[in-house]
Amino acid sequence: MTNLNEQYEEKVRPCIDLIDSLRSLGVEKDLALPAIAVIGDQSSGKSSVLEALSGVALPRGSGIVTRCPLELKMKRKNDGEGWQGKISYQDHEEEIQDPADVEKKIEEAQIQIAGVGVGISENMISLEIASPDVPDLTLIDLPGITRVAVHGQPVNIGEQIKKLIHKFITKQETICLVVHACNVDLATTEALQMAQEEDPEGERTLGILTKPDLVDKGTEQMVIDILQNEVIHLKKGYMIVRCRGQQEIMQKVSLAEAIEREKAFFADHAHFCSLYDDGQATVPRLAEKLTLELVHHIEKSLPRLEEQIEEKLEQAQAELVRYGTGPPSDAAERLYFLIDKVTAFTQDTISLAAGEELRCGEKLNIFSALRREFDKWSIHLSHTGQKFNARIDKEVAIYEDKYRGRELPGFINYKTFEVMVKEQIKQLEEPAVKKLRDIAGKDRNHKTRKRVHCRVHAENPVQDGNDCLLPGQNLQQQFE
Ligand code: GDP
Ligand code: MG
Repeated sequence: MTNLNEQYEEKVRPCIDLIDSLRSLGVEKDLALPAIAVIGDQSSGKSSVLEALSGVALPRGSGIVTRCPLELKMKRKNDGEGWQGKISYQDHEEEIQDPADVEKKIEEAQIQIAGVGVGISENMISLEIASPDVPDLTLIDLPGITRVAVHGQPVNIGEQIKKLIHKFITKQETICLVVHACNVDLATTEALQMAQEEDPEGERTLGILTKPDLVDKGTEQMVIDILQNEVIHLKKGYMIVRCRGQQEIMQKVSLAEAIEREKAFFADHAHFCSLYDDGQATVPRLAEKLTLELVHHIEKSLPRLEEQIEEKLEQAQAELVRYGTGPPSDAAERLYFLIDKVTAFTQDTISLAAGEELRCGEKLNIFSALRREFDKWSIHLSHTGQKFNARIDKEVAIYEDKYRGRELPGFINYKTFEVMVKEQIKQLEEPAVKKLRDIAGKDRNHKTRKRVHCRVHAENPVQDGNDCLLPGQNLQQQFE
């Protein structure tokens, strides 16, 4: 057993396959697939741990190396299929042909996103790798926590990084690996505290100690105490791993070789051999433990998925009931069935035309609403009528004064009267069109798809955009 992949295939694969088959049955809401994120101080060995787990070379080194979150999405391909890589960030997307180029491409991406130097960015680099040798899993490499800004970094770099880390570890489907170097005092780690804030129950936090080869001589027992969960208690406990040091990287020691060296290191170690015997040390053991955690995570999520399926089933059944029974198989009965359906449909159409089913929720029946509008219109009309009468009286007075001959009092020349009436009607034109729009709007507000036939008697030509209503014509407006 070398990396996570082999473990994964054996134990996690059946769970993933189960989820895939559920999806193919149409379970729409996906069960979020697990991700593993590493958090910890700068240079504690986060990238090294992810690299050892995944078998994919990532940039590592001293100082700030990981400057953007890196999401490594691994997809398993069938045996015999080739390796495929793709890196994407911001607007850039690029295929990677050779696994050996991954590291270089990530570095280029970091320069593009966060500039040359020591700046960080919360913009993510997404690296997709498809190969027969990787599990279906997402790993997230994050910048390490720093406290003091070095030259060229913003003063609040520490805060920026912590905010970024919180954003990732707050997700329930993410397992947090808190990485800590053996040669640093555990009490100084902020990462642990952050993980505890996001995961107070400790359901998805695992402590990882790194660099056991660099432990300060004489402090080995303290490391053992941590591993035995006696210093800062973690529900899921701690593991210890040894990854490639800088020198080994430069000597191009392969990952497989590194695993061998790691095993020998722990097995022969005067103090840590007990940890090895207890299964708390080495990358393969860590892979094993993570696999169990992943299976546990999926199993825990299954009841939720089951609930979703039940819910969907209930909805579908209720819908089925609403549709009623289908047509009978007997030809004669089928005719009656059809007649029944047609009758019911006709009845519905008649009720709709009569506006009987237009009450929706709390809203007024459309007729009540329209009556109110027409009442207002009627008040408006009688008001303008009074003004019209007053105008006529005035005009009559002027007429009588100036032109009255033998006519009886109170009568004016027909032509003058006609002009006045036309003017009056013209004044009504605009409010009438507005009212018509209001009423149409009311109907739309009822958000009913039912059709209303509304007769509007127009006494006067009304010009409204493209619509032209002629006097006496019935406007049959179908409102949708
Ligand atoms: P990160 O900043 O947390 O991602 O840390 P890196 O993975 O980049 O590692 C920082 C440095 O520590 C690199 O030079 C690694 O080679 C080195 N390193 C990581 N793990 C170990 C280890 O177990 N032993 C030794 N000696 N060096 C290690
Ligand atoms: Mg790193």
